[in-house]
Amino acid sequence: MANERPRVLIVGAGFGGLYAAQTLRNTSVDVLLIDRHNFHTFTPLLYQVATSGLDPSGIAYPVRSIFRRAKNVEFLLGQVQSIDFDNRHVVVQTNTQTLYEQYDFLIVAAGSVTNTFNIDGLEQFSFGLKDLSDAVVLRNHILKLFERAAWTPDADKKKALTTLVVVGGGPTGLETAGALFELYNNVLRQEYAGLNSTKTRVILIEAMDHLLDPYPQYLRDSALAQLRSLGVEVVLNEQVEAVTKDHVRLKSGTTISTYTLVWAAGVKASSVAQLIDVPLQRGGRVPIHPTTEVIGRNNVYVIGDMAYLEATDGRPYPMLIPVAKQQGMLAARNILRRTKGWKQQGFHYIDRGIMATIGRSRAVAWLYYRITLTGYLAWIAWLILHLIWLMGFRNRLSVFINWVWNYITYDRSVRIILEHKPYAPDQEPDPQNEKPVAL
Ligand SMILES: Cc1cc2nc3c(=O)[nH]c(=O)nc-3n(C[C@H](O)[C@H](O)[C@H](O)COP(=O)(O)OP(=O)(O)OC[C@H]3O[C@@H](n4cnc5c(N)ncnc54)[C@H](O)[C@@H]3O)c2cc1C
Repeated sequence: MANERPRVLIVGAGFGGLYAAQTLRNTSVDVLLIDRHNFHTFTPLLYQVATSGLDPSGIAYPVRSIFRRAKNVEFLLGQVQSIDFDNRHVVVQTNTQTLYEQYDFLIVAAGSVTNTFNIDGLEQFSFGLKDLSDAVVLRNHILKLFERAAWTPDADKKKALTTLVVVGGGPTGLETAGALFELYNNVLRQEYAGLNSTKTRVILIEAMDHLLDPYPQYLRDSALAQLRSLGVEVVLNEQVEAVTKDHVRLKSGTTISTYTLVWAAGVKASSVAQLIDVPLQRGGRVPIHPTTEVIGRNNVYVIGDMAYLEATDGRPYPMLIPVAKQQGMLAARNILRRTKGWKQQGFHYIDRGIMATIGRSRAVAWLYYRITLTGYLAWIAWLILHLIWLMGFRNRLSVFINWVWNYITYDRSVRIILEHKPYAPDQEPDPQNEKPVAL
């Protein structure tokens, strides 16, 4: 060990990194937690920020607050650039300087990024929903579209401006499509006299012949029926071939005129995985031992979305919060065991089930892979559990108040277009121009 108290560096204050640091708080090691953001994001509610239901601060929590009382945990705001395994240091770029941070043990939990599969125009013209900036960019875009649509005399243009396409039949796709539809029908439509007679289309596209792949057929069918009853157009067995500023072309040859494509159809490991410098697995994920230590690297642990570990059925553990949390805690416990000369333990995933919400009073849940819930009951279960999982009392209270308010009034109160660039009504909407806007 470099000094008496081993130094553990954790890259990423997402779910994996945060739970690793929490497990190590007030123990016999020193911890440096590094993230390019100074907050932890509760990703399951990102779509509610994007659709004006919640304020960004309601689903983000400052990392320094979380570790205020932990004497052995330090935080560094910066971007990890490279790792020197021979000299055991991580190179971090902050706003003002380059730092070389030494480690005895390294835990890397940099998560995943949107995978655009080299589809023509997708990178440039689609909207992702991976972090808080994405959610705010999408919210600004949607709100601006409706401002433009209300004052556009051209009927075809108005139709394109009020047609929103979401790609991906997983939980994020369903949640976003449902919430976008409700935003228009429950809120915007009442306020835009010029759009009263315009029908906003929300189209959800999925490449497979069903939604929610890991769910049983009954719940898939229920989700499809609930989405369609809401008004979302669901297109199955269809793939996006190309995207431009104002239309989406599908493999079948169909073209949809739209200025909004939300891509929720694929993720891959963060490019930080390449810094580990070992042969990568599917989705660019880093192969790890059941202890979460990287295969072929000593003292380096990779957890969460970045990690590739097969379960007993031969399939990799999914990119989900419980996996990241439990791997984070295990990596931390294994490091502590090693400092005591004890044997490391393997990963045993405790899986309590999966759920997805579709809109007001609409959801599906598969609890403990035994109990299936649909509709109102599933929705209430979803609301309660997400409120419990959210970090910090203030955030829970603010989200709860917002939900009650939205439920009673059918309102979406967070509808401020906040950008560095002023709103220019005469400018053509262009997703490419809007994307670089930072928080
Ligand atoms: C919209 C959305 C909805 C979701 N809903 C659910 C859900 O309902 N249930 C569920 O189980 N899962 C859900 N997920 C998946 C879940 O968010 C991930 O599985 C989980 O966050 C993975 O945790 P992680 O620690 O691996 O990565 P993350 O939580 O993504 O954290 C990665 C951290 O690393 C930081 N980072 C990345 N690169 C660098 C760098 N170079 N330098 C410094 N810091 C860096 C990032 O800023 C981030 O804070 C959702 C994901 C999204 C995008």
